[in-house]
Amino acid sequence: MARQETPKGKVKRSLRTTLMAVVIGLIVTTSLAFSASILAFEYFSRDDKAAANLRLSVSSWMPVVPNMIPEASPGYINSMNEIIDNSETVSAVRVEDLQGNVTYTLSQLEGSSPVLAHAIALSRSSGEQIMLRSPNGAVLARPAVQNGQMIGSFALEYPFSAIPFNWGRTLAWGLATGLLICAIAIPVVLALVHRFTSPLYRLIDFTSNVSANQLSARVDLQSGNEFDLLGDAFNSMMNRVEGTMRQIQKLAFVDSVTDLPNRERFMRVLTKALNERGEDCFTAVIILNVDRFRWVNETMGPQKGDEALSLIGMRIRKSLVAADRSVRLNDAKSAPSMVARLSGDEFAVVVPNIDAKSDITRLMQMVIASMRQPLEIGGQAITLGLSGGIALAPIHGIKPEDLVKNADLALKEARRAGRSKARFYSTKLNKIAMDRLHLEADLRRGIERDEFIPYFQAKVDYKTGQIAGAEALVRWQREDGDIISPGIFIPMAEQLGLISRIGESVLKQSCIQATRWMKAGHDCKVAVNVSPLQFEEPNFAERVLSSIRDAGLPPGRLELEITETMAVADTDRVSEIMRPLRAMGVRLAIDDFGAGHSNLVTLTKLPFDVFKIDQQFISALHSDTQAPAVVEMILAMADTMGLETVAEGVETPSQSDFLRRRGCTLAQGYLYAKPIPPDDFMKFLSEWKPLNETMIDENLLASLGGAA
Ligand code: C2E
Ligand code: CA
Ligand code: CA
Repeated sequence: MARQETPKGKVKRSLRTTLMAVVIGLIVTTSLAFSASILAFEYFSRDDKAAANLRLSVSSWMPVVPNMIPEASPGYINSMNEIIDNSETVSAVRVEDLQGNVTYTLSQLEGSSPVLAHAIALSRSSGEQIMLRSPNGAVLARPAVQNGQMIGSFALEYPFSAIPFNWGRTLAWGLATGLLICAIAIPVVLALVHRFTSPLYRLIDFTSNVSANQLSARVDLQSGNEFDLLGDAFNSMMNRVEGTMRQIQKLAFVDSVTDLPNRERFMRVLTKALNERGEDCFTAVIILNVDRFRWVNETMGPQKGDEALSLIGMRIRKSLVAADRSVRLNDAKSAPSMVARLSGDEFAVVVPNIDAKSDITRLMQMVIASMRQPLEIGGQAITLGLSGGIALAPIHGIKPEDLVKNADLALKEARRAGRSKARFYSTKLNKIAMDRLHLEADLRRGIERDEFIPYFQAKVDYKTGQIAGAEALVRWQREDGDIISPGIFIPMAEQLGLISRIGESVLKQSCIQATRWMKAGHDCKVAVNVSPLQFEEPNFAERVLSSIRDAGLPPGRLELEITETMAVADTDRVSEIMRPLRAMGVRLAIDDFGAGHSNLVTLTKLPFDVFKIDQQFISALHSDTQAPAVVEMILAMADTMGLETVAEGVETPSQSDFLRRRGCTLAQGYLYAKPIPPDDFMKFLSEWKPLNETMIDENLLASLGGAA
């Protein structure tokens, strides 16, 4: 990853430069001050140092002084005065003999400085030359010697200005000292500033790395001061941040049920695979759906459902690893196939860079085959299946969303074809989807316009030959006159959450019709199908009761049909919802009995009155060896439990014969009547002549024209 530009560049005045400027400024000022003080010191203390220079002027006095001692000739003194007056270097002279008698004193200034006397005294007692400071300048005292004998002392006072001072040398020396100080101090101080501030820059680098998403970045300052503590604090903060980020990533990209990548991650991997697709290669998107998963969830509960999903995910993943090796001959360069869980029982696979359409078919076969072995769930061996829809880039789309959408359409097609099937996307599927889209809009409009009406299909009582009941089967009577079957629109209405409105309308109309039949003297009950979603509505029972009341129908004449799968999904809840209805006398029928392979013990707990034997068993009565036994068993069981039985889809006299002989209570099927509109059904009821079952044959069937 490209390193982000550090924010240092944004700083107007860097701390390091400022610090350096301040320190260098301080050093330079200090050394200048130092040089200046050297200069000043040299200047003011030059009298001491100037002694040597003064010696010359002293020596010019030496021969004169002895003459001044016992008796000085005034003329001489006068000439001396002259010398002194003109001298710029000597401002006062004092001469004393050995007894301390002043023999000569002279001063250009007011009075003679006491320093002169003091210096003479010191020189006389020590016999040496003495140099002292005086308020005016400097005083030099010396013994006066004649013929090797000390005869007295003399002192000369020099004005300050007369003491020579070497400006150039002193200045050079002062500056050289200043420069030397700078030359030593500045690099040392700069190194110190650098050392002191470098942890700060390391911290800045570190924080900018972190903000450039390098969460693994850590600092090691080793400054030996508080910066180390700061670094440690940053590091432990980053450890926590990194941990949290990992957790968040997991939550964001991993499906918690299966531990597989989730939809977000899938889309990213797919996008990457599409970007890296090789020339002449496909990238395949497969959307998989678990067959019969709903059944697992409903019968075994959501927890076992999750368990099943996790096992299924594992199976798919394994089969992909195997397929990558044997079908794709995956080399290290190409990314492996990946499976993700999109939602519910929907998985998705991305296969990057696959050579041929036939390869993807083989891969798909391996994935589907992985589900052949039963799954072990809650101690039970359950065989489920996988259906799959495939879309290939670039032929079926190049954008991730398009590919997923198209694979999804192909999946729907595969599911329509039956279990464990796979289909490639084709443009035809797109048309089907568009049609569906229009259908959705029409469905909503149809509901607004009350276009749903119940047709009624008669149920014949085997004992009396009378029509003892009728099942309401909804039809969509469209504006254009088309009649649409529930198989087409009910699943869609359920998906769109519109089923309750349709169901309630059918229920109301059915109750009204049944009251009509009753008033016309027909002893005919009405059975209404209930969708699981409708059943889940909180006030379902109240709505049913109000429909009965509004129509004036005795509750005993209404039967509710719920499917076996729905009944066993939550027996306690079904019982609870049905309790107030049953208390009023409403009957309960289990629809499609036998199709759900339910546990019979579970079923016996439910408060129902009727078994409706599933059509598949009736139609298979004469073709399948198992079916007769299953039907016999259901009939026997219902008999023992004192329940009514309805055989659905009775189409032939021989089926009817079999059922009647085995004690089935009612028959429903094209053999007697098809579902017909309400008015036709009313007519049908009044024209119905009780049947003698033995009389039914193909001829009679033909004469019943309207029913077939
Ligand atoms: P179902 O409840 O199992 O209804 C029986 C289906 O079998 C009906 O199909 C009926 O027309 C058909 N049928 C009856 N006798 C025969 C026969 O002898 N041979 C054959 N091959 N079929 C026969 P239909 O009317 O198309 O309804 C299909 C399904 O739609 C129903 O299955 C039911 O599950 C659902 N359905 C129908 N009306 C409603 C309704 O008002 N509400 C709800 N929620 N579902 C409904
Ligand atoms: Ca039914
Ligand atoms: Ca049925």
